[in-house]
Amino acid sequence: MKDTLKHSGMRNKLADTLLAKGITDKTVLDAIRTVPRHLFLDSGFEDHAYQDKAFPIGAEQTISQPYTVAFQTALLELKPRDKVLEIGTGSGYQTAVLLHLKTKVYTIERQLELFKKTNIFFKKMGYRPKKVIFGDGYKGLPEEAPYDAIVVTAGAPKVPKALMAQLKIGGRLVIPIGVEEQIMTRYLRKSEKEFEKTTYGSFRFVPLLEDKN
Ligand code: SAH
Repeated sequence: MKDTLKHSGMRNKLADTLLAKGITDKTVLDAIRTVPRHLFLDSGFEDHAYQDKAFPIGAEQTISQPYTVAFQTALLELKPRDKVLEIGTGSGYQTAVLLHLKTKVYTIERQLELFKKTNIFFKKMGYRPKKVIFGDGYKGLPEEAPYDAIVVTAGAPKVPKALMAQLKIGGRLVIPIGVEEQIMTRYLRKSEKEFEKTTYGSFRFVPLLEDKN
């Protein structure tokens, strides 16, 4: 599959849709205009790539809806060179958006097939996260901590303590919390012990699963 003018036209429209839905962060909209989302779907599904919808990527997982990716990314308030931990690599689309913002990305996936497939895809596309890890995101990645930002792209029943512990002071953790439906939640680490919690609207994610298969 290729990236063509037609695709970039569709991306511009998608960015306009997200702007109309309240995404105003220019760097995030620029990432939406740039990252070729159709290449993150299996071929044959490219007509679905630039609708603002989640889509199945196999192994019962989904590529998050563009609005959700943009919303979470904006809440992370990233600057170039920030160190970011992503839980739930999935298709790699969110990873690519983070890389477009010139951040250093560490990403963890617990589903072996997806982990392998997306790793190959990153190499083919020339995307360079710092590390792509096969493992359990509940534990985070303590050996590379602390992080400026952590984004969880699956619904967590509660906030994993390990992730809070791996934030820098001033760092942001963006995580959808809930079982049937999730409330987008952001924790800003104010000091060693103090976190400021802010909640946003409700979203629907695939579950953050605890054990490896
Ligand atoms: N960021 C992805 C979203 C994928 S959906 C994208 O842009 O495509 C969420 C992903 O989280 C799935 O791939 C799922 O396998 C993964 N996941 C679920 N529980 C996990 C855990 N405990 N640790 C790491 N990844 C997990």
